[in-house]
Amino acid sequence: MATLPAMNAPAAYLVPASVDEAADALSDGEATLLAGGTDLLLQTHQGVRAFRRTLVNISRIAELKTISLSGDRFRIGALVTITELLHSKLVCQHLPILAQAADHFASDQIRNAATVGGNLCNASPAGDMLPPLLALDATVELACRKDHRLQRRNVPLDQFFLGPRRTAMAADELLTAVEIPLPPARHYGRFFKLGTRPALDISIISIALAGVLENRQLTGVRVAFGAVAPIPVRARRTEAALEGRTLDAEVISTAVETARAEATPISDIRASAWYRSEMIFNMMRRLLHEAADA
Ligand SMILES: Cc1cc2nc3c(=O)[nH]c(=O)nc-3n(C[C@H](O)[C@H](O)[C@H](O)COP(=O)(O)OP(=O)(O)OC[C@H]3O[C@@H](n4cnc5c(N)ncnc54)[C@H](O)[C@@H]3O)c2cc1C
Repeated sequence: MATLPAMNAPAAYLVPASVDEAADALSDGEATLLAGGTDLLLQTHQGVRAFRRTLVNISRIAELKTISLSGDRFRIGALVTITELLHSKLVCQHLPILAQAADHFASDQIRNAATVGGNLCNASPAGDMLPPLLALDATVELACRKDHRLQRRNVPLDQFFLGPRRTAMAADELLTAVEIPLPPARHYGRFFKLGTRPALDISIISIALAGVLENRQLTGVRVAFGAVAPIPVRARRTEAALEGRTLDAEVISTAVETARAEATPISDIRASAWYRSEMIFNMMRRLLHEAADA
């Protein structure tokens, strides 16, 4: 790995063995947290951001590496990698939309290091795990040390993202897990990612569609878009246009027009705003026709 420019080197390096120790290390708000490093080390090396005084490597905290189902809630630890999601029997059986997103995520080498927590905390509008997690009504668990005690709080994912690379997480907090309610019977979910080289590129747009599918009707509809706004967003007007309606030509036509109007993309080096809007329209139509035929 390339060496860091001296002026950008942290003054201290800590490797906590527990969430408690990590929260301790973060408590003065002067630490940068390192998980898989696939975003952070690029950004610091390119000078896009600087390390804070202490670099805290959380990669040895066993509690953050598990996927479990307890009662009707899944818990995915912040350090679960994209490869582990892809190969998890629990995820493939109950949350296949997450496995689909993992399957469209980067190369094997990056997937082996990249974590779910890092993808969420990096808060890129193009992060691939974000739309499917929004469509699954996920919440994130944040931990910090206050009054000499470890405290945890839960934030619904749709309130977590505040702007590009900005979240509701305070400087003394770490993300410990993502929690997802067990989807009901006949739950249907699809993830679509558009990139010039499907898994290797950052998304030009992405779409997650979920809901209970019965007799060509979707209920509890969730639609989330990536890379069409400063943060990943739920498309609530599109959801309303689909909720409880039979997926016939008229309903699909109204829903895709709504989706195009609801997306507010920008032009950048990867695509123009116009192209992104057209792709939302076309790919939503494809996803809805697939759902109607499922
Ligand atoms: C070649 C390449 C291809 C890529 N392709 C894709 C792709 O297809 N799709 C995609 O979505 N992304 C992609 N990425 C981006 C990146 O791999 C992901 O965002 C990844 O999930 C980040 O996880 P990480 O563990 O490496 O995070 P890190 O780089 O370690 O951290 C990222 C940020 O989150 C913070 N952080 C990490 N974990 C926590 C935590 N538990 N609590 C609090 N803060 C935390 C860090 O301080 C840092 O600010 C790619 C990156 C590269 C280099």
